Amino acid sequence: MKASRKDGPRKSIFDESMEAFYRAAEHIKLNPRVRLELEEPDFEHIFYITIETRDRLVPVTKEEEAHFKDLPASSVKAGEALEPLANGQFVLHRRALLKADITLREGVLRIPKRGLFRIEKGGPKKFKAYRIQYNQVRGPYKGGVRYHKDVSLDLFKALAADMTWKTAIADIPFGGAKGGVRIDPSAYSKEELEHVTLRFIYKLKNVIGPYVDIPAPDVNTNPEIMAIMMRQFTDGERMPHAMRGVVTGKDVRIGGSEGRAKATGQGTVYCLEEWARWRGESLAGKRVLVQGFGNVGTASAEILHAMGAKVVGVQDAYGTIVNEKGLDIPALLAHAAEPDNLRRSVEGFTGGSKLSRDDFWKVDAEIAIPAALGGTITGDVAEGLKVQVVAEAANGPTTPDGDKVLRDRKIDLIPDIVCNAGGVTVSYYEWLQNLRMEHWSEAEVNNRLERAIKANFGIIHDIANDSPQKTPLYDSRRFVVGKKIDMRTAAMALALRRIENHYLLEGFSQ
Ligand code: NAD
Repeated sequence: MKASRKDGPRKSIFDESMEAFYRAAEHIKLNPRVRLELEEPDFEHIFYITIETRDRLVPVTKEEEAHFKDLPASSVKAGEALEPLANGQFVLHRRALLKADITLREGVLRIPKRGLFRIEKGGPKKFKAYRIQYNQVRGPYKGGVRYHKDVSLDLFKALAADMTWKTAIADIPFGGAKGGVRIDPSAYSKEELEHVTLRFIYKLKNVIGPYVDIPAPDVNTNPEIMAIMMRQFTDGERMPHAMRGVVTGKDVRIGGSEGRAKATGQGTVYCLEEWARWRGESLAGKRVLVQGFGNVGTASAEILHAMGAKVVGVQDAYGTIVNEKGLDIPALLAHAAEPDNLRRSVEGFTGGSKLSRDDFWKVDAEIAIPAALGGTITGDVAEGLKVQVVAEAANGPTTPDGDKVLRDRKIDLIPDIVCNAGGVTVSYYEWLQNLRMEHWSEAEVNNRLERAIKANFGIIHDIANDSPQKTPLYDSRRFVVGKKIDMRTAAMALALRRIENHYLLEGFSQ
């Protein structure tokens, strides 16, 4: 969601993300009181959590190395007792001293094949934490938990608002929320991150719950973390099994849903199928660019490849790989999953050629799928695109300037709030399965998801084209605004109408 320098002066992330809200509010003449209700979150929980950290082994600086050059090596068993962290440090567990033969000078020791490390004492640490509960008029607050060093109130407000629109568009009975902890997870051990998670839920216990606010995984949180959250929330409760729906995105063996892992990519592909159908075409043979090869990028690429589309380029944080004949996606997935490919990167894949980062979006293709970070399709990037459609699998990948260029160049857009709604939709199915104590098959999940995504995408398409109709799948007649509007505004118009209905039909408590 970052604006490039050429995109003009920086607005807050929240203000930028609300531009589509204000545009749509004008088009549908949103009730003024509802508009005020939706302009800011219901609640902003901002708090601190503390944990005890363990002692660490921190690499000495280059300058210090000479001073310790004659320090004999210590014999310490690495592995579990010296737990490697992604930032190059080790967590020092006490059992490392068992049977160890250690030479220490000024707190520094040499570990064979690893180098010189200084022992740094652990101790209590404090982290800023957030849970923004944006709106619950349609159902319990719903949204992910992000562990990242760059999170802020501004970012979480924008993401929580997005969840509010997304759940309304997906037509699932949830509101919107988002939250997380300002932490660099690469600097903490698994045990320390578990303690962060336990403390986070300990503090939130009174404001979340299966019918109140339902967290899910987001950046740097995963099914393991969801299990810890569920355990902490249900700990000591008389009926913990009745509370499994307090979080979604769990492992399928403990109440997670089949199909959840691929749901976001699958939803993106359902949208693209509809896009192709309106053009009287199919996805087979279409050339695709995918940015991001994580959860969403891999699922999108794999499903499209299986449908006969040609993924001609993939870019991740470390490399860009292209092949005009189409990349062998199963082979690329195997490459990313190789045990020594610690960054799970496409870099080094031999089934294609390397390309410079900046040239990626200029590659000839019909479909562009940004599935990495926000703010990647800037005005400049949009000018260079050769594709017919941008399917926003990531959250907020197009800047306002990028949006304008796409409109001017008549490149179709599938906006994020519908394109990546597959994840939260299957989270709803997970919640339903938990409440009913059921377990649905993957085919059942995908059938429901396909119907839901295609129906809601159809309504948005009809709003954008001012073509009201009733089909066996949906009825868009109540939602059109009497003129053609762009797809992003159309998606927001649908969300706001559905939310407004609740306020107007249920009335306001004074
Ligand atoms: P992930 O962490 O699994 O993968 C992210 C990928 O992006 C990685 O391959 C990484 O290398 C790549 N990347 C990071 N920085 C990059 C850069 N500068 N250039 C190119 N590639 C870069 O994340 P994910 O779960 O796949 O989420 C991707 C996007 O989709 C995010 O915007 C997320 O908010 C959004 N999203 C995810 C879900 C979900 O269910 N996972 C649901 C809705 C939206």
